[in-house]
Amino acid sequence: MPLLRRRRIKIILAAVCIAATFCSCSFGGRGSENAEKADFFAMDTYMSVTAYGESAQKAAELAKDEVQRLDKLWSVTDENSEIFAVNGGGEVSVSGETAQLISFMLEMAKRTGGALEPTLYPVVKAWGFTGGENRVPSGEEIQELLKNVGYEKVTVSGNNVTLPSGVMLDTGAVGKGYASDKAAEILKENGVDSALIDLGGNIVMIGRKPDGKEWKIGVRDPEGNGVVGVISASDCAIVTSGVYERNFTAADGTVYGHIIDPKSGAPVDNDILSVTIIASEGRLCDALSTALFVMGKDGAIEHWRTHKDFEMIMLCKDGQAYVTEGIKDRFEADEKHKGMKINVITG
Ligand code: AMP
Ligand code: MG
Repeated sequence: MPLLRRRRIKIILAAVCIAATFCSCSFGGRGSENAEKADFFAMDTYMSVTAYGESAQKAAELAKDEVQRLDKLWSVTDENSEIFAVNGGGEVSVSGETAQLISFMLEMAKRTGGALEPTLYPVVKAWGFTGGENRVPSGEEIQELLKNVGYEKVTVSGNNVTLPSGVMLDTGAVGKGYASDKAAEILKENGVDSALIDLGGNIVMIGRKPDGKEWKIGVRDPEGNGVVGVISASDCAIVTSGVYERNFTAADGTVYGHIIDPKSGAPVDNDILSVTIIASEGRLCDALSTALFVMGKDGAIEHWRTHKDFEMIMLCKDGQAYVTEGIKDRFEADEKHKGMKINVITG
């Protein structure tokens, strides 16, 4: 089966799985209010905005329009996008939101010691994760491409972005999270106080469910179908990065995932299977889920202890979960995973 199709099927399965988790809780009580759902495809994934209340329909459509607008600005492959123009090199004037996205990526690159590396595009492309066929580039090819990688090579001054020739940005690790925050802003501006935004697994919840209860968000089993557990939450964002999202199997049977270690230029292969971040903003969750996946278990724990502006659930190759103290009481293992050891990370 072609890879793209396989990937889409996997995404649909994940969406069905998440939807199944929500099913038990979406309607009833105040749920008799209007529930409006906008489903669409953008940023290379399936997305949905579900809003409740009188202004839900208009608000959900406006949120969808906003995400699609940002997709057009931030696509690395669309020749008409602002990121494409920036990647051509030199000084380029961009919109306020694109300048903000790039500034945020640089800030997070600095904060994570370059584990989040916004200039990885040439390397990601060489592995075939953005357009083209998946392949294993040679060591020399990667070393050559890594010469153009480094967030410190990027300058943002007002709305002007400057890249040296050959340096290229990839918005894949943060764009969906940033867009989910923008979608949430639009919903709130339009009077919505209960909504669930799901941009390809980048979740933002506005308020609580219409019945006043918390939302239930499934954490996918990285090694199988279904979920390993459920997080109860409201008014926050939840984003997971996992090797299962996008990967390919090489001729020798090695599975390569889409998150690249900027130091080696190769897909991350460490002790983590997935990292789920819970925080107030989608952009922070998205940036951190990718970066902490790169850092590995110990690096991720150290990062949490230094910053403590997020919670996390790590599922590791040792078959155990590592959960920060602030989220442990809100995470419940699924029936099938009740035996899983849950380690609590304390400050
Ligand atoms: P996510 O699914 O949010 O973890 O983001 C992964 C995507 O971000 C990949 O598909 C690449 O486009 C890009 N990417 C891969 N590795 C990195 C990295 N270390 N830093 C920044 N972006 C990355
Ligand atoms: Mg991310």
